[in-house]
Amino acid sequence: MRANPISATVDYDKDGVQHGFLKLPYSHDGSAWGSIMIPITVARNGDGPTILLTGGNHGDEYEGPVALFDLTKTIKSEDITGRVIIVPAMNYPAFRAASRTSPIDKGNMNRIFPGNPVGTVTEKIADYFQRTLLPLADYVLDIHSGGKTLNFVPFCAAHVLEDKAQEEKCVAAMRAFNAPFSMMLLEVDATGMYDTAAEEMGKVFISTELGGGGSSTAASVAIAKKGVKNLLRHAGVLTGDLDVENSIEICMPDHQCYISSESSGLLELCVELGEPVTTGQTLARVYDIDRTGSNPTVYTSPLNGIFAARHFPGLIGMGDIVGVVAVKV
Ligand SMILES: [Zn+2]
Repeated sequence: MRANPISATVDYDKDGVQHGFLKLPYSHDGSAWGSIMIPITVARNGDGPTILLTGGNHGDEYEGPVALFDLTKTIKSEDITGRVIIVPAMNYPAFRAASRTSPIDKGNMNRIFPGNPVGTVTEKIADYFQRTLLPLADYVLDIHSGGKTLNFVPFCAAHVLEDKAQEEKCVAAMRAFNAPFSMMLLEVDATGMYDTAAEEMGKVFISTELGGGGSSTAASVAIAKKGVKNLLRHAGVLTGDLDVENSIEICMPDHQCYISSESSGLLELCVELGEPVTTGQTLARVYDIDRTGSNPTVYTSPLNGIFAARHFPGLIGMGDIVGVVAVKV
């Protein structure tokens, strides 16, 4: 396979804290010999585990970028044992455009792995993670939230894996992150995901969904910052005790958990995020916006659980997720 065109301006083997770029050549109308400059920080102090931290896998999710840009200026190499690699905005063109996917090639970073060194811009970035960064890592944390179209109860997630020993390590890392909710996910379509790429390499992988709506809050950023520190302590990269409170353990066992809209129109939510719901309870109504006097389409809970995610914008389209009901473990 061809070499990846990205060159790093940081040296992954050097001790100390280095700030630099992943430099991806990109010739376009505005810059004939230009490059996309993806910010990266590497902090290293001797031998120890490597933690790979990413935000901005989707460009309109902000807890990861905020917590990680902050970490790049506060991390000190003398405080750590091992190595921390921080990429606050993984799909950097998407992040710059405040959109889920890249404005250059419409690439969705979390559906494009293992990427391609001679493919589109997004495929080239994915290939660099696949063949350069992931192999360096022992622990991988990818911080997501709902973006402009979804909002979630704040959770850290681990996947149900075939390798139960690996799953156990991921679950321990998820519990150490200690978001208000801890979610076991059975991925319905794992193809092309960064998660799957990391898990197939045997890495301890966790992700999050910490809010949404296309912005972040003081509370959701605090969860991200605390979780990152806890993970570094759990891995032995930072010393000190974990900062943990009670976390509600939930799971999304199958397709039933996802409620899709079979109409389009005006959304009325009938429950708040995090509220317990029972089978048959009305979760939402969708009104026809073309006429008055018609009955709204009613969406009910398919099971007993917790209302864990919601459609964010006020209008909803056919096939959009109305909401997600997770089950308490
Ligand atoms: Zn995302």
